[in-house]
Amino acid sequence: MTPRTSQSDNNLISTAIARLRSCSQVDIQANWHCCTTDVSIAEVTQFGCHNSVAQLNHKGHIAWSTGVLWLVQQIVIPQDLDGYFLEGLCLRLALTWWAESAQIYVNGCLIQEGDLFDCSTRVLLSPSVQPGQKISVALRLVSPAHDHGALVRSLCIYESTTDHYLEPGFIADELAVLQRYLGFTPEKLPFLTAAIAEIDWLALPDRHKFERSLLQVRSSVQFLTDEIKQRCIYLVGHAHLDLAWLWSISETWDVAQRTFASVLNLQQEFPKLIFCHSTPALYAWIEQHRPDLFVAIQQQIAAGRWEVVGGLWVEPELNLISGESIVRQLLYGQRYVREKFGSVSPVAWLPDSFGFCATLPQFFKQAGIEYFVTQKLRWNDTTEFPYGAFWWRSPDGSQIFSFMSPLIGEGVDPLKMATYACDWETQTSLTEALWLPGVGDHGGGPTRDMLEVQLRWQQSPFFPRLEFSTAERSTSLLPLLPLLPLLPQPPISPSGTMNYI
Ligand SMILES: [Zn+2]
Repeated sequence: MTPRTSQSDNNLISTAIARLRSCSQVDIQANWHCCTTDVSIAEVTQFGCHNSVAQLNHKGHIAWSTGVLWLVQQIVIPQDLDGYFLEGLCLRLALTWWAESAQIYVNGCLIQEGDLFDCSTRVLLSPSVQPGQKISVALRLVSPAHDHGALVRSLCIYESTTDHYLEPGFIADELAVLQRYLGFTPEKLPFLTAAIAEIDWLALPDRHKFERSLLQVRSSVQFLTDEIKQRCIYLVGHAHLDLAWLWSISETWDVAQRTFASVLNLQQEFPKLIFCHSTPALYAWIEQHRPDLFVAIQQQIAAGRWEVVGGLWVEPELNLISGESIVRQLLYGQRYVREKFGSVSPVAWLPDSFGFCATLPQFFKQAGIEYFVTQKLRWNDTTEFPYGAFWWRSPDGSQIFSFMSPLIGEGVDPLKMATYACDWETQTSLTEALWLPGVGDHGGGPTRDMLEVQLRWQQSPFFPRLEFSTAERSTSLLPLLPLLPLLPQPPISPSGTMNYI
């Protein structure tokens, strides 16, 4: 049970954090006007959808059943938010949708597109806002064929453009990360409560005075962050891409080359970015059809900035296929990876396979694989899978180190990452966690905004060390931990199979 003092400390801290956020972030979800006629952007810009305010459902989403939904609003930059002056800050619009297709227009110009999997973004609306400035935003959303559509979130975020001052919302997130880590040492929470009580709210009308007060508070609790900096979150860029699912195979090839080209471009600008990708079948297609891209990928692999988490020819189904098929997946996959990239892959990267036969450790070990990685075992609403890192032994006695990766298709959301890393540490006692930033399920990979957010948080004293690494390096020390549990064998089903589903 949480001690009473911790609860009251946490309440005070959370209240102050919410107030700080309200000084530089504003929810605009209730301000959209909507229409369901599929008109052009010119008509939307000219006539708007002024008569119909979009209704929010009980989750705060704007939902519609089928077809197209236009959402329009004009953002007028206020002088201040809760008394905090905004002039000169940059403005981003954070959006999350559930839609087959999403087009974002700013002042009538299409500036970004997304889909069901590329479903979250932070659009730069202005690099330096002026009070009274008007920005019109229009969203054209198309509902998924199999489901209702929804605009899940729309949030205006005003950010500082200088390192000298940090906007209140950023410091709020830093304090929230610290609050989360103090969950390991709740006796230190009162120090944070006492520091937060020193925020000079009366200074709000004088922005720089208020910001100085926040920096003062920030530095007064930095002595609490030493233990956070002893921890590390390893980043590996990722872009899950099913070879065949809701699209044709020709689209898979197209998405693959666009994803790989996007990663290579970003690596020019962000040289620390390390990206991993599975599926030798995709590399073979790229080799044949885009030799220029293939050579560039080979160079990045040789430079240690691109990791082939291959092992198997594709990321296969592993409940139904025969042992012969699994052997050939491994044989063709490892043979290709060794021939083209110099050595076999020690990682079986299967984040999205819907279950695993009990004999896999035997197959993996015989194919030179040392690590099995998935996250799919979380997909169980009845039996919660209890382990994060564990030894998995097949009936013949072969044993492989196994690792539950974080979720795939995620961005760089510091609070989500800190929460995940704390939960991981609670579960496994490991102070190093992995995070896989990158749009996925339909390719995509890391975005520029993710990398910019990562760079900003890398400098924060309130966040664990944040380093790009490879899946292999970030997991290679774990098997040395002697106390990892051994996964019990599953019962034999009436049909004679032994699967983990
Ligand atoms: Zn998938």
